[in-house]
Amino acid sequence: MEEDLEPEKKRTRGLGTKVATSRPRATALTTVPQTQGQTAVPKVPRKTGPRCSAAIATVLKNQKPGPAVPAQKPGTTAAPPVVGRKKPSKRPAWDLKGQLCDLNAELKCCRERTQMLDQENQQLRNQLREAQQQATALGTERRTLEEELARMRAQAEQGQQELGNLSTRVLELEERLGTQEGLVQELQKEQLELQEERRGLAAQLEEQERRLQASEAALSGSQAELASLRQEAAAQADLLFKREERLHGLEMERRRLHNQLQELKGNVRVFCRVRPVLPGESTPPPGFLLFPSGPSGPSDPPTRLSLSRSDERRGTLSGAPAAPTRHDFSFDRVFPPGSGQDEVFEEISMLVQSALDGYPVCIFAYGQTGSGKTFTMEGGPGGDPQVEGLIPRALRHLFSVAQELSGQGWTYSFVASYVEIYNETVRDLLATGTRKGHGGECEIRRAGPGSEELTVTNARYVPVSCEREVEALLHLARQNRAVARTAQNERSSRSHSVFQLQISGEHAGRGLQCAAPLSLVDLAGSERLDPGLALGPGERERLRETQAINSSLSTLGLVIMALSNKESHVPYRNSKLTYLLQNSLGGSAKMLMFVNISPLEENVSESLNSLRFASKVNQCVIGTAQANRK
Ligand code: ADP
Ligand code: MG
Repeated sequence: MEEDLEPEKKRTRGLGTKVATSRPRATALTTVPQTQGQTAVPKVPRKTGPRCSAAIATVLKNQKPGPAVPAQKPGTTAAPPVVGRKKPSKRPAWDLKGQLCDLNAELKCCRERTQMLDQENQQLRNQLREAQQQATALGTERRTLEEELARMRAQAEQGQQELGNLSTRVLELEERLGTQEGLVQELQKEQLELQEERRGLAAQLEEQERRLQASEAALSGSQAELASLRQEAAAQADLLFKREERLHGLEMERRRLHNQLQELKGNVRVFCRVRPVLPGESTPPPGFLLFPSGPSGPSDPPTRLSLSRSDERRGTLSGAPAAPTRHDFSFDRVFPPGSGQDEVFEEISMLVQSALDGYPVCIFAYGQTGSGKTFTMEGGPGGDPQVEGLIPRALRHLFSVAQELSGQGWTYSFVASYVEIYNETVRDLLATGTRKGHGGECEIRRAGPGSEELTVTNARYVPVSCEREVEALLHLARQNRAVARTAQNERSSRSHSVFQLQISGEHAGRGLQCAAPLSLVDLAGSERLDPGLALGPGERERLRETQAINSSLSTLGLVIMALSNKESHVPYRNSKLTYLLQNSLGGSAKMLMFVNISPLEENVSESLNSLRFASKVNQCVIGTAQANRK
């Protein structure tokens, strides 16, 4: 707008001192752009008096048409031309006054007009300022709006994004909803099933309650019954106690009677056992060995044995061979060749029972080499249970009876030892490790000062509680003997083997104790050395062995005799064997001797010797036995 006004000013200055208001000025004013609005640009009132109009006309007449007048654009409304006004009449040149007056009037008019234009200008300026202010305000508003628009756009974008997110979320949620719906369906199904189950359980519960009631009723009945049963149990316990007392009394009575019976049978008993003829041996002539029946006939167990010996040195006067001499022997029991190991053991099991009751028991096997002593004591070869000997059978019996007695409050313990006495030296058959087979010599000593008990130094005393342990010990003893055999030919038959079992029983409840040794002795071969034999180095050794054996066997006989005759001195110390067995012989001890006999005719001499020795022993009666009770 100002730019539009600027050329006008220039043009006014171009007029020089000539003050005139040109028409184009008015035209310029009227050409104010319509955008300013009709109200913003009020039309300037044209107060042009007649003089003023004339003056203006004069000026305009001298004025050339301005080149600055902008060509009116077609279609724009042009201001109405002022030219149509009536020009004042021209004063004569002389009429200076009039001219002055006109000029004054014109000046005045111009001034008015200027003033008016100023005002208008002022107004326009004001309008311009206002418009500028408005424009500024509008600009600000525009910026605000733009900012707002940008914000809105951003918001819209954000909204769009959020919308996107939300749709994703909606999709997710829809998916989840689908899953949840599936779940809900499942749950509903489950619920239905559970309801069904619940109904079933409720029915069951009802049933259970019914049963419970019945049970409660039964329980109260049972409680009453229980009370009566308790009473009964108390009575039973009382009875049981009385029975136990009675049982104990009976057990003690049994022991007493058992002992009496054993005493009646004799504290020294002798059994004769004849082994069968072995394959490869010549069968003895008929009637060589006879086993006459007892007074009650063949049903009686045999106790007699008859041996016939034909003496070739004796002859009849007629020269015919002399009739064989019969030798009759009678023992506590005779076992003919067919007797089994079990049969033999049955006879001695009572004696083993005595050992448990606290009486020392000693069982010997006496006889010449090859007569069956080892077979009787340890058993036959091959570990066949049928041919098991007295030692394993006795131990099995002891373990089983001890087990039975444990029910009556008895506790038993067993300690085994196994030694051999060869040439009056004692050796441990249970030696292990480096001592195995050639173990150092052992000595028989008293267990302690003033003690009656004897012990073998360097010998193993092994606690045993089952058959397996006993088997292992017998096996070890056999091994030890086998090793020894390499050094000394058939030493086992030239030595005494003494298996001893220390039995200790205790009845803690009654403070009772009993202890006794059970000794099972496989004696050395009793055969004599043939006096006619030449004495080579081997025979001399053999002679020494035989003398030692004979000496110890005769000492055994003497000890038994001395005990039988109740002599004040019993020669226990005369041999290692009797010394070792001191506590198992005499006094309260029970003794059993097996005399083992060969069935062969060629052994008849040794058989007779054995039978004679055994007969002497059989005549012995050793004092009344006393159980070793504390
Ligand atoms: P010993 O120990 O007296 O020298 P053994 O016990 O070694 O004699 O017996 C000699 C042989 O006779 C052995 O082969 C043994 O198996 C056998 N024997 C001994 N007694 C019997 C018997 N009652 N039944 C079967 N065989 C026996
Ligand atoms: Mg033997």
